[in-house]
Amino acid sequence: MSLTDANIMNTYRRTPIALVRGQGARVWDAGGRQYLDFLAGIAVCNLGHAHPAVVDAVRRQAGELMHVSNLYYTNPQAEVARILVERSFADKAFFCNSGAEANEAAIKLARKYAHENLGPDKYELITMKDSFHGRTMATITATGQEKFQFGFTPLLDGFRYIPFNNPEALEAAITPRTCGVMLEPIQGEGGVIIPDDDYLARVREICDRHKILMIVDEVQTGIGRTGKLFAYEYSGVKPDIMTLAKALGNGFPVGAMLATNEIARAFSPGNHASTFGGNPLAMAAVQATLETILGQDILGRSLETGAYFRQHLERLKAKHSMITDVRGKGLMIACALTGDGAPIVSACQERGLLINCTGGKTLRFVPPLIITKNDVDEAVSILDAALEGR
Ligand SMILES: *Cc1c(COP(=O)(O)O)cnc(C)c1O
Repeated sequence: MSLTDANIMNTYRRTPIALVRGQGARVWDAGGRQYLDFLAGIAVCNLGHAHPAVVDAVRRQAGELMHVSNLYYTNPQAEVARILVERSFADKAFFCNSGAEANEAAIKLARKYAHENLGPDKYELITMKDSFHGRTMATITATGQEKFQFGFTPLLDGFRYIPFNNPEALEAAITPRTCGVMLEPIQGEGGVIIPDDDYLARVREICDRHKILMIVDEVQTGIGRTGKLFAYEYSGVKPDIMTLAKALGNGFPVGAMLATNEIARAFSPGNHASTFGGNPLAMAAVQATLETILGQDILGRSLETGAYFRQHLERLKAKHSMITDVRGKGLMIACALTGDGAPIVSACQERGLLINCTGGKTLRFVPPLIITKNDVDEAVSILDAALEGR
């Protein structure tokens, strides 16, 4: 830990434990202590740690072909793109290495499409207050939270912010310069904020009427987190562009931006690129992840476990006045608190449960989708003890 503090830039508030190994929903620290991991690398390890399908695929691919350039064809990339396209609204994929990069690609594609099809003055994107889209310059600009932008001005031109879950505000914010709207189906870092059931459908209708693009950031909600492969599937409508990362490679760093043919056509060779994007090693991890999630009814089971978990959190809410709200979809779940969540996170950790807290007063639970009801029972009893007397 002192090595880290001496040599690594100070951009994270780290908890003083050093993790060395993981298996399923459990991780172990350097002293051999076990933790139940209900954070899963922040909604990343949806199949849990060291899932054999992913480990085998990465091992095999690493020994065969780890990286060549996108100047050549590689089979794993074609296979993964086929799965994503078959399972979504999209016709084409672009691969990169993170959520921020996927959103950068989406912003560039939206601007390029608008520039070519709607005119050079249409470049403005509308995004949501309390959203989170990443840490690059374009994505902190898109992120509607000043705390992520502070100290980094000047930001990019061409962004406007409106309240989430408010179709009227979207309608009112559209100008002749607007080319699209970008939003999370459920706001993650903003505190697991779930909009009304008809919200995405209303956004779609407004986008159609004004001929602007609908971009969904499914970096956190995608790959089964909410109980469907993509959270937009609950809405009954389809976006024009979608971004993925976090759980896409179950821990292997990888991102993707997907779009319909109509929009994707705006990119031609030389417009956008990534050296590592979609390399065979990353794609082997993604293929194993997607095939396992889709082939083993992980989604169906996670919906059941999520409902069971929420039910038990409701029981804790009735018992502890500090909990004011329990909300979630699938296994993307939060407890809103009356006060600071940090002491609860620490108290859980001392008892062997890893969770985190977003926006100060919201406990966030994004466990691996493979957790059992026994794991939930254990987590709930630890949380119960951590809340005792507060
Ligand atoms: C985590 C996250 C990002 C950023 O992803 P990185 O891989 O950290 O760049 C973007 N959007 C959403 C919704 C996220 O949750």
